[in-house]
Amino acid sequence: MNVEEMIQIDREYILHPYASPRTPLPSIPVVAAEGVRLLLADGRELIDGMASWWCVIHGYNHPVLNEALQQQIVRMSHVMFGGITHPQAITLSKKLVAIAPEGLQKVFFCDSGSVSVEVAIKMAIQYWSALGNKGKNKLLTIKNGYHGDTFGAMSVCDPITGMHHLFAGAVAEQFFAEAPQCCTDEEWGPSDISSLAAILTQNKKNIAAVIVEPVVQGAGGMRFYAPEYLRQLRRLCDENDVLLIVDEIATGFGRTGRLFACEHAQIAPDIMCLGKAITGGYMSFAATMTTKKICEGIAADDGVFMHGPTFMGNPLACSVANASIDLLLGYDLGAMIGAIETRLYGGLAPCRNFKSVRDVRVLGGIGVVEMKKPVNVAHAQAEFVKRGVWVRPFGKLVYVMPPYVIEPSDLDFLTRMIVEVVSLL
Ligand code: PMP
Repeated sequence: MNVEEMIQIDREYILHPYASPRTPLPSIPVVAAEGVRLLLADGRELIDGMASWWCVIHGYNHPVLNEALQQQIVRMSHVMFGGITHPQAITLSKKLVAIAPEGLQKVFFCDSGSVSVEVAIKMAIQYWSALGNKGKNKLLTIKNGYHGDTFGAMSVCDPITGMHHLFAGAVAEQFFAEAPQCCTDEEWGPSDISSLAAILTQNKKNIAAVIVEPVVQGAGGMRFYAPEYLRQLRRLCDENDVLLIVDEIATGFGRTGRLFACEHAQIAPDIMCLGKAITGGYMSFAATMTTKKICEGIAADDGVFMHGPTFMGNPLACSVANASIDLLLGYDLGAMIGAIETRLYGGLAPCRNFKSVRDVRVLGGIGVVEMKKPVNVAHAQAEFVKRGVWVRPFGKLVYVMPPYVIEPSDLDFLTRMIVEVVSLL
């Protein structure tokens, strides 16, 4: 099949993410990937700045991850998890409990990030319900958040930039507080959390949990906020008998320079969602972790936890997750992400000089150029591809979170190309 045929059949039959079914933006055929490079069907190569939406932390086609899958596939690709367990899931649960913030000792394996958020919400509501607090069934969150595309997850995404307007009446109504404006602990002031504190104290009888992305708000605006906010949030949740769910789907497994972004604030949530990089980007998989206390609460009325996806605990996914976590623990993560942070900071700095740019910010392995106006994605994408890099902007944001293994020279090339393309926007 030649490149034109691939593009034509793709347009004819396939729906792409967040795309018009009638006039989708062009999709570029990729036929292989190696390290930080995507190989296109026409023979060109692109340096990947996106890590396939945060996931591919060790690079593509990694020999260790390939080997883990090859070993597992000849033993057992899948087996149902109801009434059955298997060595890869057992090993993974032990590893996750060992590296997770303190107290998270129970793991529920699931299919994707959005599903892990659904599971977290159900855990929180079932917990209070089993303890006789049936009125505690709402969520409180902060504006500019993003937690996924399924209904429960959508209900806690930002009410303006999320999908509430499209599904009005069908999405549960939740409580929204103002997002923190402080980027660092030095900038922190009590007014940053006053909106959330007021809603929490006034509505605690109806609130099962607060859900937030720790330190980095991703798809809702690529905003960074002070760890002190999380410390205060933990305290407020405890004082008001409300659970704390942290969504580490994007930040987990090292992206901010710590294994989990919660570690910046040294707090532990009651429930934590993991996904994306859990398999090193090899396949869809996720986990929701919680405490013994929450599990005992759920079981208080002799109930069971009501969720059980078909592919729960898939052995292939568990095997590659085990190998990915071992690789990650072998890195000097602080130094590795610190080096990316320094290069991103220096490399993107020239963007500050453009009138079209509102802000340039970097945290760990995340670099963001926020424009004043929405980016023409088709134009920007074509300019990036022409220059040999893969960067996919959304809204007003041109952003990158490359694989951790990116060489300094590739990273410098990537940021130089971003500066060039941003100068055209
Ligand atoms: N939460 C956060 C913070 C995310 O970034 C994402 C994915 N962009 C999700 C949840 C949803 O994950 P998935 O796309 O795997 O369903």
